[in-house]
Amino acid sequence: MTIENQKPSTVSVWGGEEKPLAFGAAQVPIVQSAPFAYDNMDEWAAVALGQAQGHIYSRNTNPTVDVFEEKCRLLEGGEKAIAFASGMAAISNSLFTILRPGDRIVSVKDTYGGTSRIFLDMLPKIGVEVDLVATDDSDAIDDAISKGCKVVYLETPTNPTLKIIDLKRAIASAKKQNAITIVDNTFATPINQNPLSFGADLVVHSATKYLGGHDDAMGGILIGNHDLVQEVYEYREIAGAVLSAFSAYLLLRGMKTLDLRIQKQNATGMKVAEYLKDHPKVENVYYPGLPDHPKHDVAKRQMRGFGGMLSFSIKGDFETLKRFVGELEFVHKAASLGSVNTLIGPPSTTSHVECTPEQRAELGIPETLLRYSCGIEDADDLIAQLEKAFAQV
Ligand SMILES: *Cc1c(COP(=O)(O)O)cnc(C)c1O
Repeated sequence: MTIENQKPSTVSVWGGEEKPLAFGAAQVPIVQSAPFAYDNMDEWAAVALGQAQGHIYSRNTNPTVDVFEEKCRLLEGGEKAIAFASGMAAISNSLFTILRPGDRIVSVKDTYGGTSRIFLDMLPKIGVEVDLVATDDSDAIDDAISKGCKVVYLETPTNPTLKIIDLKRAIASAKKQNAITIVDNTFATPINQNPLSFGADLVVHSATKYLGGHDDAMGGILIGNHDLVQEVYEYREIAGAVLSAFSAYLLLRGMKTLDLRIQKQNATGMKVAEYLKDHPKVENVYYPGLPDHPKHDVAKRQMRGFGGMLSFSIKGDFETLKRFVGELEFVHKAASLGSVNTLIGPPSTTSHVECTPEQRAELGIPETLLRYSCGIEDADDLIAQLEKAFAQV
């Protein structure tokens, strides 16, 4: 038996940890050392030149980080994986490695706020043409790609209105142009969706979210085609945004329960969405698991679960929203997502803080929208807290 043919719950626990660990440790040791020392100059040279296995310096590789990379690689089914200090480091290092002045990139309007900043502010400065298409318009995505491009950058489900992109269709269009497809799989997690299995070249995650799952460590990961990941590795080596051994340890500890958490969060997401859908004080619910979501059929095809992220707009104005949020207990009012604790927040202080109300309206984000990240608490308790808060507004 090999680890490759084990189920995701088994890989979450054992991936990268199949072989005996240093000192016979049963859990991955934190190797908190910047350099690695050698008695033998020839051995040192062989490792330094890549002719033998080993470590030289933790800006290149580190044994604790190695295990995190291998676990993520196995879960996404890629050829190679490298870790970063944050999700944004993974995304920016990948884009700045691959793109050159004169290149064109196609993406969608609803990418994560930090990613949008790269598209709107940074890439144009180095002479890269950026074409951002309406996220829910599959024909427009195909059209934009068919004009020719170096990279197609996708994210599904999106933040904060849970739009779904048909991965197979967009990747097929990208392949016709020999474009490299990158997919941000943070919201779905490798438990619910594997973009590489649909032909994507690269997958990125903010490991800060579901992979770690405990809101106690920042991290990012890039997984996919060996040669592309190797190129980004060489960029990372110099750019220096590496994952620390201690953060890798925390993320690994969190990942042991990845499958358990996601199964629970999938179930809670569905239950909370169904409760909100029928609530008289709710205007709209955004959740790909609901049959009336405009891309429910696509989500059903490409995802094994619909996830623990949803959003909803409440009837009233921003003052109503403020009162509603103020009444909620056992819910963090915070910017992150994907934690064991439930989190809530409006896009105006979380994902789209850098936009004006007009820009948010243009993106179809109502000012009374709340993004809700289901934790692993009891779903009925969460619903009771929402009900109590609704009664006050
Ligand atoms: C949070 C997030 C990022 C950025 O990750 P950091 O770890 O905060 O740098 C990128 N994409 C998505 C979808 C995210 O939710």
